Amino acid sequence: EESISVSELSQAMGVKASDLIRKLMQAGKMATINAQIDADTAAFLATDFGYTVEKKGFEVEEFIPEVAEDESKLVLRPPVVTVMGHVDHGKTSLLDAIRQADVAAGEAGGITQHIGAYNVQTQHGPITFLDTPGHEAFTAMRQRGAQVTDLVVLVVAADDGVMPQTVESIKAAKAAGVTILVAINKIDKPGATPERVMQQLTEYELVAEQWGGTTIMLPVSARTKQGIPELLEYISLQSEVLELKANPEKLAAGRVIEAKLEKGRGPVATVLVEEGTLRVGDALVTGIHYGRVRAMMNERGEHVNDVPPGYPVEVLGLSGVPVAGDEFNVVEDEKSAKEVAQHRAEKARQKELGSVKKATLEDLFAKA
Ligand code: GDP
Ligand code: MG
Repeated sequence: EESISVSELSQAMGVKASDLIRKLMQAGKMATINAQIDADTAAFLATDFGYTVEKKGFEVEEFIPEVAEDESKLVLRPPVVTVMGHVDHGKTSLLDAIRQADVAAGEAGGITQHIGAYNVQTQHGPITFLDTPGHEAFTAMRQRGAQVTDLVVLVVAADDGVMPQTVESIKAAKAAGVTILVAINKIDKPGATPERVMQQLTEYELVAEQWGGTTIMLPVSARTKQGIPELLEYISLQSEVLELKANPEKLAAGRVIEAKLEKGRGPVATVLVEEGTLRVGDALVTGIHYGRVRAMMNERGEHVNDVPPGYPVEVLGLSGVPVAGDEFNVVEDEKSAKEVAQHRAEKARQKELGSVKKATLEDLFAKA
């Protein structure tokens, strides 16, 4: 049976031990600061202080078992798609072409903001695209424990074929266990040979459906827009198969996709909400930064007040610029958010001091 002391838990959550003891007493449990409490009790306390305990990102999760998801609260969410492929094969062009295929353009004038992620309304439903191409970014995210992508669209230029970064992308997607859809791009070009690409991809165990395999491979042109509607339709079909669901009724949690400091706006973070609903006014913590959500903007430049799972949004109001790939969590109030952030900053500082000390010792030994 796993246990944790009240003082360890208070440290891990950045909550005063006396507050924890008071909560325990209210629940009819007497405890002192050094008392060991079991995982269930710790989970109860963590929930009470606004932590989504089953999520990673707080040290407490090491001690606390996953809280079972309330199945009845799960609703379908949009798929999250990353476009990958070799340089110049047309990733950016394809993402632009998909942006323009947005059917929810309306009065706002379509997707105008070039933020790190956008949600496009298609005839088959909403799809979220991460505009952070490159297998390096993808792999870096994964190394930070982020598995934000449901599907990978692998772009291969029909006139160029499989290239080194194509292979890297395939490896990254496979390592992540993510389904690959192949967009054979630039088929408008004279001399484009989609069959050659299909042939080359068989060497990487990607066999086209047309050839009896399981991988969807579509000829497209980001320039003429040929094949784009079909690509979006297939993405929707694939995501239906995956039955992607999340609970919109809890405190929001998700990932930072990109972040920067903007003149006049302060730190701006593009985040992907993975579960719960993110609301203006929410207290949020991500890494060593925290804040209250002051405003949120979608890919159409519109202000939004609440963002459900599977959608990206730009968030204003953080204390600093967070790290891409870091998790964010909404907590009960800004005070808790600040405490957790400061606790993490302090831990990071101690770790740094520790490594300096160690380096100095090693230097001494090296000299001796
Ligand atoms: P990325 O490096 O993968 O993001 O590739 P880009 O989107 O920047 O495209 C590289 C070059 O290929 C640019 O000059 C594009 O205009 C061109 N390009 C992209 N898609 C197509 C296409 O479907 N047809 C043609 N003819 N050119 C394309
Ligand atoms: Mg590009």
